[in-house]
Amino acid sequence: MRFSGLFSLFFFTFVSLVLTTESWSASFQLSNKLIPGSAVLIHVKGFPEGSTLKGDLDKRSFPLSADGLGIIALDMAKKEGYATVRVRIKPKKGAQETVSRKFWISPRPYKEEHITLPKKKVDLGKTDLTRANKETRAIKATYNLRRDKPGYLEQFRQPLEGRFSGVFGSRRILNGKPKRPHNGVDIAAPKGTPIVTTAPGRVVLVGKDYFFTGNTLVIHHGDGVISLYAHMDEMLVEKGEWLSKDTVIGTIGMTGRVTGPHLHWGTLVRGARVDPMMMPGIRQP
Ligand SMILES: [Zn+2]
Repeated sequence: MRFSGLFSLFFFTFVSLVLTTESWSASFQLSNKLIPGSAVLIHVKGFPEGSTLKGDLDKRSFPLSADGLGIIALDMAKKEGYATVRVRIKPKKGAQETVSRKFWISPRPYKEEHITLPKKKVDLGKTDLTRANKETRAIKATYNLRRDKPGYLEQFRQPLEGRFSGVFGSRRILNGKPKRPHNGVDIAAPKGTPIVTTAPGRVVLVGKDYFFTGNTLVIHHGDGVISLYAHMDEMLVEKGEWLSKDTVIGTIGMTGRVTGPHLHWGTLVRGARVDPMMMPGIRQP
């Protein structure tokens, strides 16, 4: 398989080099700077063909293709300190070598946001709470998916144009009470505006009228890269379907707990909550 789509991103380069006693030397590049809530592509080069590659970021493993390509991410709550990227290269012949590099991670300031909602949408009764918890578990189960074609290497794009009505990471104060930080971005647009898949991938959840997220789609782009789309009106794809790039998946709505028509768009990389606007290939607004 050839991946050319996002190759052009490797302009921002950190190179780690290991010189071996063999006649080869491996290195890796990252497509951008690692910060909390960001994902970057990694490209390992200079290893003998047919080698087995194993990567880990802070001792949590990540997959690499035979071409040496993969994606790594830091969760939004990553604390100040070092992050270590390691790649172990086991050639068909000869000894295993390790390339590694430490990156200093600075904390990221997040905004505070005050929201007012009707009391019954905030203080849930027993029936609503049971239902909402079940829906949350169904969504979270998809975050454990790992294996599928790496659609994220082909393209990653914004699912629609619109006004950014909610930023990533904001600490939300709901009716005066602090809640979990906002783990996505909100894009406001008129009801019925088409939404496209951010990258090729497989539909792994079609949630109808969820309490918080309304009509909800989850798409897996391979290697644990997940997109979540919430508050949709129409959902035009089916569970299990593989979507090629730019497929329309549905339309903007105001289902679930919302104050107006918008898309809540979330991205995760193997469980790490990533700012969608900091996925490789996304241009800052
Ligand atoms: Zn949101």
